[in-house]
Amino acid sequence: MNHNDVERYRKQILLEKIGEDGQRRLGESKVLVAGCGALGTVICNNLVRMGVGTLVIADRDFIERDNLHRQILFDEDDVAANLPKAIAAENKLRKINPSVKIEALVTDINSKNIKEMMSGVNCVIDGTDNFETRYLINDACYSLNIPWIYGGVTGTSGMFYAFVPGKTPCLRCLMNEPPAPGETETCDTVGVLPTAVSVAASMETTEAVKILTGRGSELIGKMVRFNAWDGLWVSFGLKKDDNCPLCVQGRYDFLDSRLMSKTVSLCGRNAMQINPAKKTELDFAALSARLASSGSVDYNEYMLKFSAGDIEISVFKDSRAIIKGVNDEAAAKSAFSKYIGL
Ligand SMILES: [Zn+2]
Repeated sequence: MNHNDVERYRKQILLEKIGEDGQRRLGESKVLVAGCGALGTVICNNLVRMGVGTLVIADRDFIERDNLHRQILFDEDDVAANLPKAIAAENKLRKINPSVKIEALVTDINSKNIKEMMSGVNCVIDGTDNFETRYLINDACYSLNIPWIYGGVTGTSGMFYAFVPGKTPCLRCLMNEPPAPGETETCDTVGVLPTAVSVAASMETTEAVKILTGRGSELIGKMVRFNAWDGLWVSFGLKKDDNCPLCVQGRYDFLDSRLMSKTVSLCGRNAMQINPAKKTELDFAALSARLASSGSVDYNEYMLKFSAGDIEISVFKDSRAIIKGVNDEAAAKSAFSKYIGL
């Protein structure tokens, strides 16, 4: 560590839990932050200020004005410049700490590219907003023996958990498959408290730092759930599923695409079709009530049509959807997970 580093990190080196050795180890670590929205911006901000060695940021979205209340690395200028989140984050983070190596990837995370973006990575931190990508991260991390930290927030509550291959159950031990589309609430339908996001993202970072510095964690194997509004905080142990498709049967259904949704471009129509892997019977009345505050919505017994801004989503009973007003797979998946849930 050079003189500048000692000065910059002085107050965290003073912590018995970190010390010079912990700081050095953090500086030699490479981390992938998957998704740079609400959770991701807080995680990246924490990691870069604390002095991680290399940070890879992967995100497929552009910044919108309704991101600014909680996505702490972005401002009005970024909205006006129509910048991708990964790029705007990189610009900001370089000013915060130029000694951290940053690789910004403007991309959808999918089964074809995830292993490559995890090359040389010591830990993956979840900043995504959808279950499908989390199951893909779980597959990739358990196949490469890399820890990953889960975090999620909706409304005023959140949770986090450190998945460590060889030490803890995996995501599929907890829930064999992702919830069906339309089954879960999203921040775009029920809202989200920015302070709850900061808590979850900061605790995710803390768990990652404990692993990267080799300090271990008393929370390993425990899921923590909290409500930032009520001040409630509970943790509970998770058990390995004796029949887990991944840990026991050795299947990587998301990494080999078997359980990933399929996206197809509909030629000449400026539209994409999304066919979720998990079929369901959507409850249009409930979905319509949830979407009412986000745009205009109408449905009959076969199809629900929702529009917000330039985007129009037509979703069928079995959750197959046509998304208009998007040009590529990433934007289509983004719109689907934002409003319907993936
Ligand atoms: Zn498992």
